[in-house]
Amino acid sequence: MERQAGNSPGIRSLYLHFPFCESKCHYCDFYSIGRERTKDSDAPLFEEALRTELELLVSGAPIVAAGSPSSEAPTHPRFAPELDTIFMGGGTPSMTPPDSMARALEPLWKATRVTSNTEWTMEANPSSVDRERLRQYRALGVNRISMGVQALRDDLLLRLGRVHSRDKALESLDAIFDAGFDNVSVDLLCGVPQQTLQDLEAALDTLTRYPITHLSCYLLTLPKTHKMHRELPNEDQQLEHLLLIDRWMASHGFEHYEISNFSKSGRQARHNLAYWKREGYLSAGPSAHAFDPNPGPAGIRWKNVSSLHKYAQLLKQGRLPIEWTEELKAEDAELEKWMLALRLSEGFPESWLDGDQKLRKARLLQEQGVLERHPAKLSTLRLTARGFAVSDQVIATLA
Ligand code: SF4
Repeated sequence: MERQAGNSPGIRSLYLHFPFCESKCHYCDFYSIGRERTKDSDAPLFEEALRTELELLVSGAPIVAAGSPSSEAPTHPRFAPELDTIFMGGGTPSMTPPDSMARALEPLWKATRVTSNTEWTMEANPSSVDRERLRQYRALGVNRISMGVQALRDDLLLRLGRVHSRDKALESLDAIFDAGFDNVSVDLLCGVPQQTLQDLEAALDTLTRYPITHLSCYLLTLPKTHKMHRELPNEDQQLEHLLLIDRWMASHGFEHYEISNFSKSGRQARHNLAYWKREGYLSAGPSAHAFDPNPGPAGIRWKNVSSLHKYAQLLKQGRLPIEWTEELKAEDAELEKWMLALRLSEGFPESWLDGDQKLRKARLLQEQGVLERHPAKLSTLRLTARGFAVSDQVIATLA
């Protein structure tokens, strides 16, 4: 007998993973395939598979890993009648032509719709956008662009394996604003080998002269086996990078609302907030993750297979391309609650500090300057800018 996914009013967020990239960047561990490893038949294969997956999602197919029996699996949760957010990530979604995207997404509209209030984000890279194409994405419904700039020094871009130059990045930002987008986020990396504080400041200066509404700035992390690992800056230098960005963005009207994210007022990334607030999201595309908070004691997470060909093959057999599912226990949900709340500048209610031990630890963290009382909500605690920079340690102490 199939279990229902509860009486949820339906899920309001959707993530779509597009697997193609111009070339594989040296530091990237997302599932994506560089152009040199793709065949002409891969793009139509993906379009057809994505369309089939969305048909299956809309029809409520069971959430079960490929090869497992489906009798005990919960049915796929419903979409809410209106979507609050769509996020097209990858990979490089801007390599997929707008008409191909439109065909793949068609089955969705039998179950849900977008409204003028839906935040619809598309990740883009400077090497794959032009004005005409951007206008077509807007006509499709995309209203927010997240542009992977990463650095504005050509030699750093080269070391990272990016295929664009500084000039190309700035040209593509001009094209985005010319095409009429007014909600634009930029991704930047810090802690890159040979990147100085002056480089970072110059990049922030250039980028904040554009009317961007959001900036995501990630510290470059690499596995120990990576050839650039020993060139990474040390912890003190990394901290200097992170604190410089915090100061710069605060003085240019951006709120540091999440460990790595800064926004103008009212322009936080609503899709990511849904992740951080433990709301449900559905997904499609190879390697995509999804979460339904309703079934069982604490919800269920699942992930698609990370191979375009396996993904397409399973869908051809009429099966969802799920690699694994995980039913969460109450203690998993408790840990997630802490990890997610500590990411956000909204912080967490002091009443969560149940017991002397947690209260003592929180007091110590406040003395160390990594945790503070929220200035506007006195019964709430949150990380300071320094706390954001060492958030893993703080989370490990409190969660
Ligand atoms: S463009 Fe983005 S997804 Fe593609 S390889 Fe580079 S970092 Fe990874």
